[in-house]
Amino acid sequence: METSFHGYACPSCGESPGFSGDSPSCARCGAAWSRYGGVVDFTGKEQYWGEIPRSEMEELVRRAERDGWRRALAGGYGGLDAYNRKVYVDKEKRRGDFKRLLPMTREWRVLDVGCGLGSITASLALDAAEVYAFDPARERAAFCALRAGQDRLDNVTVAAADVFNAPYRGGYFDMAVVCGVMEWFAEFRGGGDPREVQRDGLARILSLLKPGGYLYLAIENRFGLNYLLGHPDPHSGLRFATFLPLAAANIYSKLVRRRPYRVPIHSPRGLSRLAADAGFIVDRLYYPAPHYHLPVYFLPLESRDSWRFFLDGIAIRNSISKEIAHFGARAAAFLGMQGTVAPAIAMIARRPA
Ligand SMILES: [Zn+2]
Repeated sequence: METSFHGYACPSCGESPGFSGDSPSCARCGAAWSRYGGVVDFTGKEQYWGEIPRSEMEELVRRAERDGWRRALAGGYGGLDAYNRKVYVDKEKRRGDFKRLLPMTREWRVLDVGCGLGSITASLALDAAEVYAFDPARERAAFCALRAGQDRLDNVTVAAADVFNAPYRGGYFDMAVVCGVMEWFAEFRGGGDPREVQRDGLARILSLLKPGGYLYLAIENRFGLNYLLGHPDPHSGLRFATFLPLAAANIYSKLVRRRPYRVPIHSPRGLSRLAADAGFIVDRLYYPAPHYHLPVYFLPLESRDSWRFFLDGIAIRNSISKEIAHFGARAAAFLGMQGTVAPAIAMIARRPA
């Protein structure tokens, strides 16, 4: 790991750690961490989440070391369905396009929270001074570090960490990116009320931002039209769970999946409240169309005209289910409820100056 990045701080005591040697540790408090591939692992535990099953991910890291990450990723593996293949392989370069919404400069220090395979990290690295990325799944963090190294993105540094032990200095970053990640905070944390865990995670991220620093956060909308039409919630796999109050969703999940419901998502209003509770000032909300995974258009949630323009001129209607969704979306726009039923939300918020 590069030692020239000054944004690291020991998660136990806050000291700037040196990462030299095989067993990096903190000179002040003695906290010690292991290495995995090219990253320091601050998590201290085994955990995994990803589009790709863990065993295949380990194999992917090995192949990326041997053949280069691009070939390894393009080589195909069983874990990715057609949609994820499009998002994570074929069009992955566009995943970070949301950066155009922000007044990024070459001076910016950016934090990619839950970097996964690193598409967004790599995109941000083209426009920022320093990019710090982390993921609680060490195999994914290792892949992200590998690709950054192979692409000579010398301004990227990657760690295995989760948001609650994130090893960074407070007040260091100009922007934090939380794309499709906050919904998993409580799953990784284990205990605690899921909404409170999410709020605490956001508050932790806020503390890492400079005063006036930006948060870009993307997440599904619990009242999304797609879920109204019966699409299962991608986090729990349950139909209609996102509409239920948390306690009811929990009972439903325990009955059907035999595990608690710890992946709540929010309405635009609920998300704004959560961010405000964490200390943020909410700036703008968008529908990242067609989805935040691979946004092409950002429609301001309150703009009925943008929504109609998108529906009539751009949205694809090549199946009955899409026709039904189109009809529903038109009706929502007619009622001025387009923001309420947008499938996903992209939020830009700031730490108070
Ligand atoms: Zn320490």
